[in-house]
Amino acid sequence: MSKIVIIGGGLAGLAAAYRLSDEHDVTVVEKDDELGGMVQSYHVADYHIEKYYHHFFSSDTELKELIAELGLSGRVQWVKGTTGYYWGGKAYPMNTPMEILKFPPMSLLDIFRLGMLVLRTKLVKDVSSYDNITAGEWILKTAGRGVFNNFFQPLLNSKFGSSAAVVSAAWLVGRVKIRSNRGAEGERLGYIRDGFQLLVTALTESIQQKGGRIITGNSAEQILQDGGRISGVRLNAGSLSCDTVISTVPPMTLASMIAPEALDFDPTAIHYQGTCCALLGMSKSLMTDGTYWLNIKADVPFGALIEHTNFMPTSDYGGEHLLYIASYFQDREDPLYAQSKDEVMKMFLEGLESMYPDFDRSDVQWWELGRDAQTAPVYETGYASRILPYKTNIDGLYLAGMFSEANYPERSMNGSVRAGYEAAGAVVRDP
Ligand SMILES: Cc1cc2nc3c(=O)[nH]c(=O)nc-3n(C[C@H](O)[C@H](O)[C@H](O)COP(=O)(O)OP(=O)(O)OC[C@H]3O[C@@H](n4cnc5c(N)ncnc54)[C@H](O)[C@@H]3O)c2cc1C
Repeated sequence: MSKIVIIGGGLAGLAAAYRLSDEHDVTVVEKDDELGGMVQSYHVADYHIEKYYHHFFSSDTELKELIAELGLSGRVQWVKGTTGYYWGGKAYPMNTPMEILKFPPMSLLDIFRLGMLVLRTKLVKDVSSYDNITAGEWILKTAGRGVFNNFFQPLLNSKFGSSAAVVSAAWLVGRVKIRSNRGAEGERLGYIRDGFQLLVTALTESIQQKGGRIITGNSAEQILQDGGRISGVRLNAGSLSCDTVISTVPPMTLASMIAPEALDFDPTAIHYQGTCCALLGMSKSLMTDGTYWLNIKADVPFGALIEHTNFMPTSDYGGEHLLYIASYFQDREDPLYAQSKDEVMKMFLEGLESMYPDFDRSDVQWWELGRDAQTAPVYETGYASRILPYKTNIDGLYLAGMFSEANYPERSMNGSVRAGYEAAGAVVRDP
């Protein structure tokens, strides 16, 4: 029986603990008071709602199986996720080929080229061969400037900000492959009715029932070694002895916990970006045409609006309309991270007013602003060669998270669950 400390109580850490706690002595250490990491929720009135918008896809095999094992399948809803594109001061629905044909900035030739690009991505078997060319170069070569300027460039900018120009075609191809997997009526997205909080709670309970221990509100500070192998973890308060560590924290955090010269790879070679995301509880719907996800090309400090209650019924949320305002940033100096929450909210509300003249601030009953400086890898060219291993060169040290192969070329809940399983499998396989 191994004595295992898992650093991080997000989905990767919890999935690994879920797999290992039957047979091993497992302790999960989470720095926050709440478990769940990126899929943490706010507790509002008598419901839970994710801090960051979440849904999953029919191709998310491991996540669906985990949901089933935990007895939550009955709560899963598959709903058409309606999307739109805000351009030239107006929102356009983009769910059917006909609607895409009517998108004004694109000529018929552009639409044809976009269609051909999507078809090409479907034929790609191994996206890693697209890792050394930027998404921009590949789109320009494959579909031309019209498609790039009017369709993909605003999406890349809103997703990666100033890093958009270095994002690899592998990321884009992988993403388009998933997102274009829809029937004529549009894709169906999965959601656990009452929130992913149920998944986090069910996982936690299952780990504890199997004898696993969970410590929250205490961060890991240093991974300890003795004679070249893992011997423990020093925490902010106290320490734990162990022979195995699975770290699920961002690579930069890992680099601060262990002497970099001990590793035969460079965790700092992977750059993470941050997320700034407001959640508004409103008395009225904003996107009254029923759009769930709106991508935006406009001079506003956010890249997408996601109206959760155009996806799940408002009756699940006491009749409130829930709207996410989503934005990513590249460094801690960005106003989205550096300014106070009130200042960021002021910018966001002004942006909403410029897009929707009928929007009335008094319809906002409450708001929360969630922001984290390290929320996802930037999939730059050459990223595939920087993916971190599940099993490291240090005896007893394993890794799983958004930086793992399972989360390439797009991070997801499914990828993190799979990464947790892979690291757990590597622990079990080792003598
Ligand atoms: C804005 C946003 C939207 C998303 N939307 C979707 C979506 O719609 N569908 C989808 O499938 N996926 C989505 N994702 C991705 C998904 O949420 C992640 O891939 C997944 O939840 C990551 O899990 P993880 O365990 O790998 O990492 P994390 O959730 O980051 O977990 C790492 C944990 O480690 C903890 N930690 C950090 N440092 C320490 C320390 N020193 N000591 C102890 N603990 C520490 C953190 O607090 C955190 O809980 C989204 C992500 C973001 C940011």
